[in-house]
Amino acid sequence: MWHNIPRERIPWFPTVDEEKCTGCRTCFEFCPHSVYEMKGDAVHVSHPYQCVVGCSNCQALCPQGAISFPDIREVRTLIAGLRKDEPPEEDTPRR
Ligand code: SF4
Ligand code: SF4
Repeated sequence: MWHNIPRERIPWFPTVDEEKCTGCRTCFEFCPHSVYEMKGDAVHVSHPYQCVVGCSNCQALCPQGAISFPDIREVRTLIAGLRKDEPPEEDTPRR
C-alpha cells in the first residue's frame, strides 16, 4: 500500500532500455529497495512496485542514459484520482 492506495495501481517504476544498457550494475548496486536484479550480465526491473513513488535517483546515475520513468505529472494526476476512490489514510502507517 502507498498512502492507502494499492501500490500496484501506481505505475511508477524504472524502465531499462536494453539497447543502451551495458550491464554496469550501477543501478542494481545503488537501489536500496531491491528493484533491480542482475541476470547474468543484464539488469532487470524484477520488483517494480518496490520502487519508491517519486524517486528517480538511479536514473541520473546511469552512465548510458538507459533508465527512464513515466511523466511524474501524469502519475500525480492519476494518484489524485485514485485518492478520491480510497478511504482516508489515518489508519495506515506510512512507508
Ligand atoms: S528510483 Fe529509487 S527506489 Fe526506484 S529503482 Fe531507482 S533508486 Fe530504486
Ligand atoms: S546503470 Fe544503466 S547501464 Fe548500468 S546496469 Fe543500470 S541501466 Fe544498465
